[in-house]
Amino acid sequence: MSEDKDITDFKSEIDRAYQNALHSEKGGDAKWKTFMQSYGAENLSEDETNMLLNSEMKITKGAYPLELRRVYEIIVRKYSAQNNEGLRNSADNFNMDDEIKKYYQKIKPFSGMGDIFSNASITMNKYSEGLQKSKHYTFKCKNCGAPRLEEMQYDNCLFCGSKLFENAN
Ligand SMILES: [Zn+2]
Repeated sequence: MSEDKDITDFKSEIDRAYQNALHSEKGGDAKWKTFMQSYGAENLSEDETNMLLNSEMKITKGAYPLELRRVYEIIVRKYSAQNNEGLRNSADNFNMDDEIKKYYQKIKPFSGMGDIFSNASITMNKYSEGLQKSKHYTFKCKNCGAPRLEEMQYDNCLFCGSKLFENAN
C-alpha cells in the first residue's frame, strides 16, 4: 500500500473515463452508455441529446461533456472519501471545469475563438428572438460559451455542466 499508488489509480481512472468519452461516437454510443452505467452515472435523456445535437454547440465526436462530468464527479467523490490525505488533496484539487473544457477542446470542430461567439449569437437568435430587445436576460456559460436556452429550465450548463453562467453583456 502506498499513497502514491492510490493517486496513480485515481489519475488512471480519470484518464480511462476521458479516453472512453473521447472514443465514443458523437453524442455517446452504446459502449459509452454502458460505461456510464457501470459508475451509476445518469445519461442525458434522449430529448436532451437531440436538443444538444441540434444546438450550435457542435462536436465532431465523443460523448457530451456533461456526461463525462457526471462520471468524473463520481470518481472524484469515491477517491476523496478515502482515508489518505495525499489522495484526498489530489481529488479535491481536481479542477472540474478546466478538465471538462480541455475535453471539449478535443471534440469540437477546428475553429477560431471568434466562432464560439458567433455561434452563440446565432443560437440566441434562433432560440430566443424575443430576447433581442432585452439582452440583459441572455446568459452564456463562462466555461464553454454555450448560450443558456431560455425555453428550458436548468441550473447548470446543459453542455458542459458548469455552474458558471454569466451575463453575456
Ligand atoms: Zn458550459
